[in-house]
Amino acid sequence: MHLVAIGECMVELAPAGDALFAMGFAGDTFNTAWYMRRLLPAAARVSYLSAVGKDALSDRMVDFMAAEGIAVDHVQRVPGRSVGLYLIQVTDGERSFAYWRSCSAARLLAEDPARLDLALAGADLIYLSGITLAILGADARSRLSAALARARAAGSKVAFDPNIRPALWSDPATMLQSISGMAAGADIVLPSYDDEARHFGDPDPVATAQRYAGNGAALVVVKDGPKPVVTWQAGRSDRHPVPVLTMPVVDTTAAGDSFNAGFLASYLSGENLGNAVAAGTSVAGRVIAGPGALVRDAVARIG
Ligand code: ADP
Repeated sequence: MHLVAIGECMVELAPAGDALFAMGFAGDTFNTAWYMRRLLPAAARVSYLSAVGKDALSDRMVDFMAAEGIAVDHVQRVPGRSVGLYLIQVTDGERSFAYWRSCSAARLLAEDPARLDLALAGADLIYLSGITLAILGADARSRLSAALARARAAGSKVAFDPNIRPALWSDPATMLQSISGMAAGADIVLPSYDDEARHFGDPDPVATAQRYAGNGAALVVVKDGPKPVVTWQAGRSDRHPVPVLTMPVVDTTAAGDSFNAGFLASYLSGENLGNAVAAGTSVAGRVIAGPGALVRDAVARIG
């Protein structure tokens, strides 16, 4: 099994006492890669396709990825740029995020088609999100789509989480068009219903699944917080209840990212749809019972 996740990992600064912040590393597609690395057998290869700077902070991020078992051969080094950063603030128990990412090196991850082909060669699964698309310019998005199409023609499967974040896009029309375009070139689409309802106006999760299936995806898996996961495959829709949590919700960061990891690791290991959804909800349920995006004790290796 060879997985390649594409996107941006950022420095995370989380409150750690009076005027102190703890530094970590996270980012939606990176979180999914990290969980998949922990779920898949040791022989599987999990690689991250991204770009960072040549500075000391970028070095620390790449060292962290490598120490976590993620292959960094295709994390490109861009001189004169650095990694993005976000700071978590907690006011009256509510978390909010401030981002510094507009000039990050990751925005240049799709400049060179030959580099993309090399990074994607031999991948069984390629994973990316709407955030991956949002940080790229229009030309880079086209280069990435073309590289994904070549990889699919060579036998890779593509999984895409629309992860709709309007603040990262220049305008809503470009956002919706780019997301629909990428979903049309994906085998598996993993949307979250609340985002889809807000931006595409879907009346229910089945409508979301049907829209992406109509676009061309062979399998659509719609997440909806504690409500049932809706799957759509071969013209058939199924509802999979999410088990009631046995632990209180502490922090829902990375619920969707970790669900995707659990689902994909299980589905690609040959499990049926129902079991793969159960693997996704089980990982996500444990992740939201712990603080932060990367919850170490939320997962145990499959096989
Ligand atoms: P996202 O983080 O992308 O918005 P969701 O909120 O839809 O994703 O949640 C993804 C998954 O996390 C759900 O399918 C479910 O398995 C789990 N989850 C999220 N919130 C809860 C909750 N309150 N109770 C149980 N499971 C939850």
